[in-house]
Amino acid sequence: MKQLVVVSGKGGTGKTSLVACFAALLAGDKRPSAVIVDCDVDASNLHLLLGGKVISEEPFFGPKAAAAPDGSLPLSDECQASCVFGAISELEIDRLLCVGCGACLVSCPEAEIKLEERKAGIIYRSDTPYGSLFHSRLFPGNPGFGGLIAELRKGAEELALEKDGSLVLIDGSPGIGCQVIASLAGADLALVVTEPSRSGIHDMGRILSLIQHFGTRAVACINRRDLNPNLCRDLERECRNRGVPVAGRIPYDPLFTEAVNAAVPLVDYGESAASAEIKNIFGVLMEVLHG
Ligand code: SF4
Repeated sequence: MKQLVVVSGKGGTGKTSLVACFAALLAGDKRPSAVIVDCDVDASNLHLLLGGKVISEEPFFGPKAAAAPDGSLPLSDECQASCVFGAISELEIDRLLCVGCGACLVSCPEAEIKLEERKAGIIYRSDTPYGSLFHSRLFPGNPGFGGLIAELRKGAEELALEKDGSLVLIDGSPGIGCQVIASLAGADLALVVTEPSRSGIHDMGRILSLIQHFGTRAVACINRRDLNPNLCRDLERECRNRGVPVAGRIPYDPLFTEAVNAAVPLVDYGESAASAEIKNIFGVLMEVLHG
């Protein structure tokens, strides 16, 4: 089993659309289709592109939250002051503001506050035309966290092992925080999707530093390469300096937006220069992974 994670360092680079294309290409390939994981949990939307139907769902629990027994109300001024997140008022503890740090339990023992599990969302497994997909839905007020990503990946890895030889294809979280680290952990290869803009160069540098810190193999691809040829050259130079190969350069293509609106991966939507380059990139990735 191999694991390919697609990350971007920033949102809006076309990462999820590319993952959908790779899933479609894997499904059309001779290899077993991929088990796909949507680790972009704060904006989980890969299922919209891949379609299919949910075949199982289970709740998951986020970090614990404080709760005060009715008998301990009203909560004292000292108790309220003990929470720097402003979660404690006289008559309640706001579970949306509470981060579960436990400081109030220590500072205010007379209130007998307890930390209780809180249901944070649902993990789904769906059957799509492109393979099994693990994805999630967070309930309002619950941010994504590394533990959720670990759960999603565990389900996908177990299924991939059952299928013997499958690839786990991961749509990683944007940015460089805890969720991205959880998306990257144990991956065989990271594809960094970037674009020729000032923030694109900056954010690619940050995500590559993170990937290289963990010793994960990385390749890059430049999306919308023709938006700024000068900055595109800067991106190439930055990759060269870091010893990261550029697997491909995708031209701007209005068909991309049409394909997203039609909820179809671009490579299944129509032939174009962008779709041809994505197929080339897919070939490079398979060669690096299995070569
Ligand atoms: S656990 Fe921490 S964040 Fe939650 S109410 Fe107590 S002090 Fe505030």
